[in-house]
Amino acid sequence: MNTDKSKITIAIDGYSSSGKSTMAKHLASEIGYRYIDSGAMYRAVTLFAMRHNMIDSNGAIDTEALIKALPAIRIDFRPTDGGQITLLNDEDVEKEIRSLAVSSHVSEIAAIPSVRHALVAMQQAFGREGGIVMDGRDIGTTVFPNAELKIFVNASAETRAQRRLAEMLEKGANVSFEEVLANVVHRDHIDETREESPLRKADDALLLDNSTMSPEEQNSLLMEMFRNALNRQA
Ligand code: C5P
Repeated sequence: MNTDKSKITIAIDGYSSSGKSTMAKHLASEIGYRYIDSGAMYRAVTLFAMRHNMIDSNGAIDTEALIKALPAIRIDFRPTDGGQITLLNDEDVEKEIRSLAVSSHVSEIAAIPSVRHALVAMQQAFGREGGIVMDGRDIGTTVFPNAELKIFVNASAETRAQRRLAEMLEKGANVSFEEVLANVVHRDHIDETREESPLRKADDALLLDNSTMSPEEQNSLLMEMFRNALNRQA
């Protein structure tokens, strides 16, 4: 258990491409905490399933085979200057897990209860000592229900698709706004309606709608939320 009051747990949840990862990463580096991108973990499992032919051309998942393979999937993060890379069984898969192919299957993979149980256990192990910023969909509700600071981030689907498109174009992907918007809306729907840990704001989470905020405004608001949460511990 964490007994150091300066090392709290920060849960940042929200819709896809709401900018929560950028915010969470920035906050963690400002305050010297570890950052964990839980979405990257669901993406890594999805990539594993794709590579092992567990997803057919119609998108049907061989759930049984995937559940059997779960103990063989190790996910870790290696810090880099200003970020981190995702490792799947020690291989750097950071770039591959961000592809549209992975994005288009990840929500179905993330809706499988056994996958969620395995990843939630890994996420809780990452956060055992506190001093962590984790972002995702169920961090404040399921992974760390006792987190000292919970934030729920949102922005309109169009704003989020526009941001995701810019990110993908910068990485050289050949996609249209319509494709990206359709993927964002599709993932929202699956995330909100799945039975296991659906995406929802925890009752005690602070709401942050960043549709019209600059990154600087967001970062200073986050710092204020962090300081207030620390003061509550003192
Ligand atoms: O955050 P990101 O968009 O990379 O996450 C990819 C997908 O993983 C989400 O669309 C969601 O379906 C799933 N996810 C989840 N629970 C989390 C993090 C991500 O279900 N804690």
